[in-house]
Amino acid sequence: MMIVMKEEATPEEIEAVVKRVEDVGARTHVSQGELVTVIGAIGDRERVANLGLEGFPGVDHLTPITKPYKLSSLQFKKGERSVIDVGGRKIGGEHFMTIAGPCTVESRDQMLTSARLVNEAGAQLLRGGAYKPRTSPYSFHGLGQAGLKLLAEAKEETGMPIVTECMDVRDLEAVAEVADVIQLGARNMQNYTLLTEVGRAGIPVLLKRGLSSTLEELLMAAEYILKEGNEDVMLCERGIRTFETAYRFTLDLMAVPVLRELTHLPIVIDPSHAAGKRGLVLPLSLAAAAVGADGIIVETHPEPEAAICDGPQQIYAHEFGDYLRQVEAAAQLAGKVVAGATAV
Ligand code: PEP
Ligand code: MN
Repeated sequence: MMIVMKEEATPEEIEAVVKRVEDVGARTHVSQGELVTVIGAIGDRERVANLGLEGFPGVDHLTPITKPYKLSSLQFKKGERSVIDVGGRKIGGEHFMTIAGPCTVESRDQMLTSARLVNEAGAQLLRGGAYKPRTSPYSFHGLGQAGLKLLAEAKEETGMPIVTECMDVRDLEAVAEVADVIQLGARNMQNYTLLTEVGRAGIPVLLKRGLSSTLEELLMAAEYILKEGNEDVMLCERGIRTFETAYRFTLDLMAVPVLRELTHLPIVIDPSHAAGKRGLVLPLSLAAAAVGADGIIVETHPEPEAAICDGPQQIYAHEFGDYLRQVEAAAQLAGKVVAGATAV
């Protein structure tokens, strides 16, 4: 249930409504809009509806939230889109953001070279996995803490905020020290303990869609993070499993306009993991920008042939600038503002 307060409602009136709702065991979420305050009441709908809140001082009206996901619904924000600020770099609303870097942190030289190249090309955030989810238990699983240190060094040198994955609550403290955005990978989208803990960490989150998850399941996963008071969640479509075997995954671009009708959260596209092949990354990125994505996360490597994982899909770092200009132009044509880009 959403309790919409009057424009002139006082803080005491808002507090009184919050207290009344919480007294019957429901949770509240107060959202201060430009003009009005909206109190989200999450819990037993009937009990909240029976409180007679319509008659409370300062209350304008009540609206039920019809979706099973509440805090992530567009309705909850009354149609206003969330803008997430990561160290002064923005995503959401009119802001388009590029996140780029290698699949995994491999060495000091590889990470720092990648960071310099993507920074010079104009990417806003730097990616790199120190903890890697791999299909085979015998594959490389990342450098762990040593990888986090290299990410910290890359951030120190370039000033780029870091996006890196946390796979396990036991690593969260260490990851949170370095990450400006914590990535939750596709395979962990429904790891509810991790979602809750990451929600409590209070650091922006990039939540990837599970390999076979519906959009509703994705939004319900986001809800776990939001309900802990962390409002900075970006959703990421990275390809889903279909019957098609000609490419690694099927990039579900229809998810972008559909999610935009359902949620206020920014939507990021990962063309790299969907494609599995470098040559597909540019056309998919252009399509993502054109269809209204708020950002892309893309893999690039100074020497993809030597990459420990995902080499075939990583863009050559020396070609990254050219790639990025084309994607930024597509995003601008779709009406987005791209930090640092010249107008098209
Ligand atoms: C990644 O981004 O490095 C990754 C492993 O992605 P996903 O979880 O989408 O497979
Ligand atoms: Mn990868």
